[in-house]
Amino acid sequence: MKLTFIKQILFDADDTLWENNVYYIKATNDFLDLLVEKGLNREQLQQEFDELELWVVKERGYGSHNFVYILEVLYERYQNLIDYRQFKSIVQRFEDHPNNPKLFEGVIDTLNALKEKYTLYVLTKGDFKEQEQKIINAGIDKIVNGYFIVPEKEDAVYQQILTQRNWKAKETCMVGNSPKSDINPALRVGMYAIYIPYANTWKLDYEEVKPVQGRYFKVQRFSDLKDWLYWDFCEKQK
Ligand SMILES: [Mg+2]
Repeated sequence: MKLTFIKQILFDADDTLWENNVYYIKATNDFLDLLVEKGLNREQLQQEFDELELWVVKERGYGSHNFVYILEVLYERYQNLIDYRQFKSIVQRFEDHPNNPKLFEGVIDTLNALKEKYTLYVLTKGDFKEQEQKIINAGIDKIVNGYFIVPEKEDAVYQQILTQRNWKAKETCMVGNSPKSDINPALRVGMYAIYIPYANTWKLDYEEVKPVQGRYFKVQRFSDLKDWLYWDFCEKQK
């Protein structure tokens, strides 16, 4: 089965087009290591981190500077135990990463081929400037027709995009790694959804997929999208 009736495809960005959450996980673990070395309990620290993260996301939103803010709050709580230079080097290493996305294998080729047949958009949540910069740095802006950067990817946002663009849900497909932000809301508003699971998906982006028969598909790799989407361009080249 090929999804030949699809006209437009929306792609999530973080951890779908490029690696993202691994840098957050690495910085979190490096930071917690500093305190575990001093005899504190890792699970308790992780719990403290998770609670703070929930609060910060709710109050301040997404984005790398809000993640750094979490580390700074924790640093202040435990500054008598942490070497400031070690703390700064963890933050520095983290800040050097996210604006320079490392694309997953086959992303550019796959998008360039899909572009021949479909209208392509990026749909990502987070800080506008930061997400836009990543899209530009990765060269994705030159391939896709446009991008939506929204504070939260809820049903209403998907619905709003469909209405604004005059797109039919049954001709629109969402592709992403997050059941909570990409797959389930897209399915709920009547769109098609292709799930690309990712081992390091952010905890706050995870929930169980609620599949809808006939509108939900799952692939292992980005380049596998060709198995579900009509591949006119490549077929002609063969
Ligand atoms: Mg994602």
